[in-house]
Amino acid sequence: MFLFQVPPPTRFDLRFSIAGIPVRVHPLFWLIAILFGSSSNSVIGLLTWIIAIFVSILIHELGHAFAMRRYGQGSQIILHFSGGLTVPESISWGGGYANVAITANQQIFISLAGPLAGFLFAGLVLAASVALGGAIIPNFIFGFIPFPIVFLPVGGEILNSLVMDLLWISIFWGFINLMPVHPLDGGNVSRYILIQTDPLNGLRTSLWVSVISGAAVAFAGLVFLRSTYMAILFGLLAFQSFQAVQGINGRY
Ligand SMILES: [Zn+2]
Repeated sequence: MFLFQVPPPTRFDLRFSIAGIPVRVHPLFWLIAILFGSSSNSVIGLLTWIIAIFVSILIHELGHAFAMRRYGQGSQIILHFSGGLTVPESISWGGGYANVAITANQQIFISLAGPLAGFLFAGLVLAASVALGGAIIPNFIFGFIPFPIVFLPVGGEILNSLVMDLLWISIFWGFINLMPVHPLDGGNVSRYILIQTDPLNGLRTSLWVSVISGAAVAFAGLVFLRSTYMAILFGLLAFQSFQAVQGINGRY
């Protein structure tokens, strides 16, 4: 995800850096990871889930961060209660606006780089599984999102559930993140495209696209995946976009 809300630092934050990119993990990140994994019926299942969600979200955000670096923009990664954020440096310092001029097309590439990093990582996980002698069974969710099932002859329950969790988060949530819903990565892409093609009404159109696609994903999640979480999350995002449309209408 790519939002401009920075949760304040706490003394329980985990801090480290990867390739010169500072990473801060807010304590609520672990709490939400545990809540999400609490449906798994074993301690091993819960632990591999927490590792998988940490690694997968970090790789997604590193995709955004390296894309920003390519255009000369420093950044900071924050993992918090609603997932991850990659914040341009001058904003994360509270210093106002980013001082590097980034074009709309570069913004589109930065937004796409997160999900793409996840798909590349999923490819590496699959390649490593094949190298370890694993069997891969093709499988699709909603008929179009690939979600291969992997059976590894080594590593037992730990490695097998870790691989499936990594693939699930990197592929499934990568695709979900590409839906044209604000403020997901796909929502940023659709906004930048529509504003470029129609400077006057592009923002309003992108918000309506967000309302409709957000409602559609909420419905699909509830009906096909029986996921109350997806229904609530996307229902809220669709409603937020609807409110934003009303805000625009009120200003003109
Ligand atoms: Zn993202």
